[in-house]
Amino acid sequence: MPDIKPTTSLEEIVSLAKRRGFVYQTSEIYGGLANAYEYGPAGVEILRKIKNLWWDFFISKREDMLGLDSQIILHPKTWEASGHVGSFTDPMVEDKVSHKRYRADHLIEAWLAKNPINNPPSVESMKSEEMNRFLQENKVKSPDGNEISEVKNFNLLFESSIGVVADESSKVYLRGETAQGIFSNFKQILDSNRVKLPFGVGQVGKSFRNEITTGQFVFRTLEFEQAEIEYFFDPETSDWQALFNDWQEKMWYFVTEILGIDASRLRWRRHEDSERSFYSKDTYDLEYLYPFGWKELWGIAYRTDYDLKQHMQFSGKNLEYTDPFTMKKFVPHVIEPAVGINRLFLMVLCDAFHQDESKNRLVLKLDQRLAPYQLAVFPLLKNKEELVAKAREVFVNLSKKYRVAWDERGNIGKRYLSQDELGTPYCVTIDFDTLEKGTVTIRRRDDASQEIVELAELEQKLALMLA
Ligand code: ATP
Repeated sequence: MPDIKPTTSLEEIVSLAKRRGFVYQTSEIYGGLANAYEYGPAGVEILRKIKNLWWDFFISKREDMLGLDSQIILHPKTWEASGHVGSFTDPMVEDKVSHKRYRADHLIEAWLAKNPINNPPSVESMKSEEMNRFLQENKVKSPDGNEISEVKNFNLLFESSIGVVADESSKVYLRGETAQGIFSNFKQILDSNRVKLPFGVGQVGKSFRNEITTGQFVFRTLEFEQAEIEYFFDPETSDWQALFNDWQEKMWYFVTEILGIDASRLRWRRHEDSERSFYSKDTYDLEYLYPFGWKELWGIAYRTDYDLKQHMQFSGKNLEYTDPFTMKKFVPHVIEPAVGINRLFLMVLCDAFHQDESKNRLVLKLDQRLAPYQLAVFPLLKNKEELVAKAREVFVNLSKKYRVAWDERGNIGKRYLSQDELGTPYCVTIDFDTLEKGTVTIRRRDDASQEIVELAELEQKLALMLA
């Protein structure tokens, strides 16, 4: 296998993101908040486009898929049924001096990266006791070099309360995943739609996890957006393996063909038996080579009938499906492809990052469907009234069809460089020839080449370029 490297370092991505308004630190004026980020004017455009492309591909264009928008705060029993209250935990250790907390598995991974050993253990599948043993036997210290505590399990659910009295009866949780809203609405979806198995329900929305691992930028945050699908089927009449393979193909297609990501930085990782939940028959992660290594982008799991049965037990309601032909009643099985929109976003940013040494510029080669702006329009000089007026006219006209950036600051070279960093595929410059001969210059982001075209033909030309 060729030696594949990440496109760039995380520092470069963070710096570009701040400089061009893709991502800011949350509450920066108050000193920031760990694991929380804001999406700036350029970032929010990409985020929305990713969500729209996901919705379009997985929901709108499929007759076997339905959408849903369930609440962030659900009935607290939901999270008892799903197992989150009991076991949605991360293994943690505490630095005995600074009292900072760390994920035990991350400390072990970092130790192994520095101290390579033959047949290293699979950290993903280690139980708490095994982690404890490993940390003690290898005298692993905290990143600050201090002794660490024993491994304890730490629940990731955020708690809140409804109403004026905060006691056990008013306790609620911010959802730790969007999926449970799909399961708890299953009966209502069946009763209000003419659906036949196999069919799926998908939703996009915020989820919350009390993550303490820092330093992974928007990859791991307290608040994030998930796009999750539950695909329900009858295990007696549908071949789960064929459905599972088909979903894997769809995920791969979405990432490589729709988001245009380089396939050499993508791979599948199958979960080992000891890593998988006891009810899951098979689980894979689609991983991307982020600047900090191969990490889970998108998970897919065959969860059997576990979730619906748990909700039947905790709610006392019948969530069975009745086959319209045979009248057989049963609890459907489910395949769950679940992705974080913010992880897709970070992948898109990393994958588009290009350092063009020959021209001493940084270019974000975003697919034009994802670029915050499809075009930029400039007057060659900002103090020539006729040029500015003509450029405004072109800008206003093109803005009816495209998201267009306007820039009249500094010199033209600097404007091109700033649009390259924003990923704008084409810049249109209005110069003296526009006034005299009716031509404009189109400049291409990817190779910095320029072409002179008739203003009268500009729209037609752009329609082809941005098709
Ligand atoms: P990880 O092992 O990286 O913590 P996970 O296996 O717990 O992730 P899932 O519960 O399977 O994640 O959630 C589905 C998807 O949601 C993940 O594949 C990921 O893309 C996204 N996701 C999960 N946690 C976070 C987070 N804290 N920040 C951003 N995205 C997240």
